[in-house]
Amino acid sequence: MRRLSIKSAVALVGEELSPVRDVVIDIADGEVIGIGKVAGSNNVIDLGSTILMPQLTNAHIHVLDHFLMGLFNKYYIDDLVGAPYGLKYYYLRRTKPESLRDGLRIIFRRVRNYGVGCLLSIIEYGRIFADVVIDEAKRASLCIIPLAEPSVFRVYVSPNEEEDVDEVFEEEVRYFVEKGFGVSLISPLNYTMAELRLVSRLAGSRGSLISTHVSETEDTHSDGDLNRALTTLITGNSLFVHLTQLSKDEVLKLPAMPIALCPRSNMELVGKLPEVGTMFSRGLRPMVGTDNVALIEPDPWQEMRLLRFLIARGAGLRAVDILKMATSWAWSWGFGYIIREGLPMKGLALGMYYNVSDDYVHEYLLTRASPGDIVYLIDGSDVMKIA
Ligand SMILES: [Zn+2]
Repeated sequence: MRRLSIKSAVALVGEELSPVRDVVIDIADGEVIGIGKVAGSNNVIDLGSTILMPQLTNAHIHVLDHFLMGLFNKYYIDDLVGAPYGLKYYYLRRTKPESLRDGLRIIFRRVRNYGVGCLLSIIEYGRIFADVVIDEAKRASLCIIPLAEPSVFRVYVSPNEEEDVDEVFEEEVRYFVEKGFGVSLISPLNYTMAELRLVSRLAGSRGSLISTHVSETEDTHSDGDLNRALTTLITGNSLFVHLTQLSKDEVLKLPAMPIALCPRSNMELVGKLPEVGTMFSRGLRPMVGTDNVALIEPDPWQEMRLLRFLIARGAGLRAVDILKMATSWAWSWGFGYIIREGLPMKGLALGMYYNVSDDYVHEYLLTRASPGDIVYLIDGSDVMKIA
């Protein structure tokens, strides 16, 4: 059994990210076995004046579009990433998975250096690219939830095809579920009702996650994508992404289910943020994602910082809740980490260069800290110093 104790000035512990001062965390075989003041082993690593907190979860990212970097703002968004005619889909249909390795390696290294431990990644053309994405994510020591996207989708579903199921679609979804992958649906509007119910049934039988973009744009919202998703997908294992256009009333009627918000992507692409305050007060526990890597650097700290501006605008948000979006709320849905006895130790330690009081520590992280302040990543019994 490998035992180790790590010491830090402050640790954010449990689901509430409660600050504990001068803390010693005992770890055995990669798991937290004690949180206290006295080391339980002779092998003590002192992290110095740092804030120790759980590694982050990025709940929505597209990693395969990095080759489009530099093209955003030069072309209309739909011409770049719109399915299936956008440049992204055109390129991916013609490229070999191996040719994407170098780009993925760079992205995952950067993702890791932002303190992310867990990643929910959309994989377009999942059958072709899932293996290479999973492989490169694992090489970067990331825990990845692959959300594989079928190659088949409809630009428009006419009322008389609602009971049709495309054969290739069904075959690919069965393959993903068999492999233990989650399934990514572009939008509920790109599949027939029968196809949506089929995915729900297949993924539900294996507990696999289904991710879909919902109401990112005014068009998809007015076309009724939310209702379409709610009436076909099992909310227990579905993840709705964006929800940018939902009214307060619609947010209040949402069932408790995993949601991922991508504030910077929303500001870039649709110039609007979702009703975050209403989601918080409704107790929805949304997560945070960074969306397309070609457009948005996959740094969750920047997402949280953007949301922090809503605090000053009286949206009813607290700094600690914004931090929870990337940590304990994700954990509560089954992704990512918190620091608690009996759970795997997956932490990051940020240098604390000021005298930070307990009631300021969450705010401090959102306003002062940056990824450059991350000095250690802790994976079980491995304490890695970040240059
Ligand atoms: Zn997306």
